[in-house]
Amino acid sequence: MATQPLVQGQQTGYGGAQTAPVETPSFQGDVPGEDAAENPNASAPQPSAPSVDKMDAVAGYEGIGFDANAPLAPPPPYSAVEAPKPAPEANVNIPKVTEDQARQALLDHVAQHCCYGKKPARDLVFNSIAPSSAFHYTLETFAEGRGTSWAMEPYTGQPIDGPMNGPPPRPWDIQAQPLGLFQDEVRYIEVPHTASVKPCHNCFATGCIRCYHCFGRGRVRCSSCGGTGHNWVHRDGHRHHERCTWCFGSGRKRCSTCHGHGQVGCPVCHRATQLKCYIKLTITWKNHKADHVVERTSLPPELITQAQGQMAFKDDQFRVAPIMNFPDQAVNEASQQLVANHGSAFAHERILRQRHQVRIVPVSDVAYAWNGQTGRFWVYGYEHAVHAPDYPQKCCWGCSIL
Ligand SMILES: [Zn+2]
Ligand SMILES: [Zn+2]
Ligand SMILES: [Zn+2]
Repeated sequence: MATQPLVQGQQTGYGGAQTAPVETPSFQGDVPGEDAAENPNASAPQPSAPSVDKMDAVAGYEGIGFDANAPLAPPPPYSAVEAPKPAPEANVNIPKVTEDQARQALLDHVAQHCCYGKKPARDLVFNSIAPSSAFHYTLETFAEGRGTSWAMEPYTGQPIDGPMNGPPPRPWDIQAQPLGLFQDEVRYIEVPHTASVKPCHNCFATGCIRCYHCFGRGRVRCSSCGGTGHNWVHRDGHRHHERCTWCFGSGRKRCSTCHGHGQVGCPVCHRATQLKCYIKLTITWKNHKADHVVERTSLPPELITQAQGQMAFKDDQFRVAPIMNFPDQAVNEASQQLVANHGSAFAHERILRQRHQVRIVPVSDVAYAWNGQTGRFWVYGYEHAVHAPDYPQKCCWGCSIL
């Protein structure tokens, strides 16, 4: 076995300072015939993954690779599924805005736009205020996905839970609880009884690899003199051929990456020479959200999703049943469609819980007259937000007169 500058456990960063600078490189492998150009931006190559057939065969984990983002194993089918309970009665009770409230809402809206004129809001005459209800239905499905891949880390004597401790549990038999319901989370777990110690494939268990800056020579060509050892300098009106002050005339400099050793620590085993290999379980908890707005005036529906409303209905169960008895049939239809979509959309995940809700957002469609013209605006939400795309005075006094 090749002699190592460091013993196991004495780790330093990849390519960083290792031992004191040396004059003679210790790297034993292939070295190019000439110094490489000095390159302060030389970057470490991507370490290779070992070939999968070098890994142990583990029952229940056949065919897994090194890609943690590989397709997930589907969960086993549900056994005892709690039947969805029927949805409770909805509470629909909508406040109406008065003319005073509508005018005040419009004045507040105008005040937020420095260019808008106040006059129309102050003087307009109401023709009608038509109250209605918009509904915002939201469905959330909290589901769990699981994937497995080989993982490795430097072996420095940590405990090894290998096959001698028994057969490993299957991916979906490993117990894990999310930190919270309806919250996205990713967690990694070492699958019990799958660990082993293997020589590092990347450095052939030597702990070091050839330096990627000097390619093992320990020296690089001086960038100041281009390797000639001399520079032309202008002085007293003449050109002088002088010894390079950077490399003292040698044309070469010690490699700053490996400090002359010609090799750097292995980025895979971090000089440990051995790796702990194990199967890593990746658990992804994801809250899938879908929503639908029922809005029958010309108000853009997306404004409803942000507006303050009143909770008409809320339900949280293992699996929710679609709403059937809401007073507005369009809400029932949206619920049936979204619940059916979520029922089949996540075949590779295990659904843990669902919840859905209907918020009612009041919308008043206001028709008015001002200055011989008619117009409309909308007051919506409990905060009395205003949508008035055709407000008569949207630029300054000056330009509206001209
Ligand atoms: Zn030089
Ligand atoms: Zn080097
Ligand atoms: Zn290594």
